[in-house]
Amino acid sequence: MTGIDVSQFEIRPHPSPRSESERAAILANPGFGRDFTDHMVTIRYTEGKGWHSAEVVPYGPLSLSPATAVLHYAQEIFEGMKAYHRADGRIGLFRAEENAARFQRSADRMAMPLLPEETFLASLRVLLEVDRAWVPEGEDTSLYLRPFMFASEEFLGVRPAHEFLFSVIASPAGAYFKSGPQPVSLWVSHEYTRAAPGGTGAAKCGGNYATSLRPQAEAIENGCEQVVFLDAVHRKYVDELGGMNIFFVFDADKTIVTPPLGTILAGITRDAVFTLARDAGYQVHERPYSIDEWRADARSGKLTEAFACGTAAVVTPIGAVRDVHGEFSASDGQAGPLTMQIRQTLLDIQHGKIPDPYGWTTVLD
Ligand SMILES: *Cc1c(COP(=O)(O)O)cnc(C)c1O
Repeated sequence: MTGIDVSQFEIRPHPSPRSESERAAILANPGFGRDFTDHMVTIRYTEGKGWHSAEVVPYGPLSLSPATAVLHYAQEIFEGMKAYHRADGRIGLFRAEENAARFQRSADRMAMPLLPEETFLASLRVLLEVDRAWVPEGEDTSLYLRPFMFASEEFLGVRPAHEFLFSVIASPAGAYFKSGPQPVSLWVSHEYTRAAPGGTGAAKCGGNYATSLRPQAEAIENGCEQVVFLDAVHRKYVDELGGMNIFFVFDADKTIVTPPLGTILAGITRDAVFTLARDAGYQVHERPYSIDEWRADARSGKLTEAFACGTAAVVTPIGAVRDVHGEFSASDGQAGPLTMQIRQTLLDIQHGKIPDPYGWTTVLD
């Protein structure tokens, strides 16, 4: 399948975009996922016809029939990525091809058509050309990009839809957590799981998030910021957070441990951490790690750091961990040195402040 290239997008500029001062006010305090840029991408898919009608249009509401398939059966996937204002004044993307490839894997699991990788990448480029002024310049800020696709066919039967809408919206982002890179507290959910073997845990789909909201609310009720899930079969091995992968650091033997792929989302940050940790002299082990090991290793001091990672929050130290049995933490709940080193290296590469020896960054002209 050949993709749609940048020149094939129809650009319909916003007739009344936000003024420079309105935009400046938003960029001065971006928050997360609250304000959106002036434009969005839409591309249609129709069975028998393929991908068509690629456009950049004014950001605004979509008009949907109440019988639109996604509203009933949740055939929907998304990606999360960022455009960075680089030190050289240009705009950079981080491993965008990996997001394009993962979007295809998610689509495959959800019985959706595969968007060609070059079309995915072209859609980011055209949106960034039009809304370039929306990429914030502050420390740790970025323009969050949200590509997504859903079953747009008006049909209530249970089968894969014949029509889909792919779209990209963009939202200026400050730090993801209000507490910034301070340690995040976790609630261990023993009652709820997020993904079972054979399920959709490895797909980036809205449904996984819908099921995480009740346990996330439970985390908040118990005074914690985020929920951490255990595996659905044994109910003891750590899977991941609602939207972040997890790592454990053991300084004595210079190893880091992270749960293996399967029911978790294959994070692109997770993969970058492998490389950065190895370059920092650590061995990386993907292996099941149980909540009992975690508690014991934290209490004995064998576990020296724990952190979570994902595009939105980058790398975030884990502080207190709480469940029905009590509370524990590694490194006295403080941010560990390897955690902060990996976080800073990643941010510096993403923002073009240091050379990128890994070929992770794409610089737009
Ligand atoms: C997106 C996501 C992550 C992080 O993936 P990145 O590619 O690093 O942003 C982790 N877990 C879940 C469930 C996710 O949806």
